[in-house]
Amino acid sequence: MKCRIGCGACCIAPSISSPLPGMPEGKPAGVRCVHLSADNRCGLFASPERPDVCERFSATPELCGDNRGQALARLARLESETG
Ligand code: SF4
Ligand code: SF4
Repeated sequence: MKCRIGCGACCIAPSISSPLPGMPEGKPAGVRCVHLSADNRCGLFASPERPDVCERFSATPELCGDNRGQALARLARLESETG
């Protein structure tokens, strides 16, 4: 599937262990990435500073569901299951 522009659930629900510009300890689960814009787009999208984990993440129906609310719930559940 194609990523829903303006969703941003995967930039909020999961934790990111690698450092990000402005988030040197990484991103805790459930916390909005500082690079997620008000319209839920990645401010580092074309930057070499975008973490590898963000580059690798791709939209799937299992994770992203049918809408943003489903994606937030599924990604939060996955985070709590995998720690
Ligand atoms: S959760 Fe899925 S649809 Fe939403 S921004 Fe991330 S990859 Fe795109
Ligand atoms: S760097 Fe971009 S893709 Fe990665 S979590 Fe932040 S806003 Fe999302």
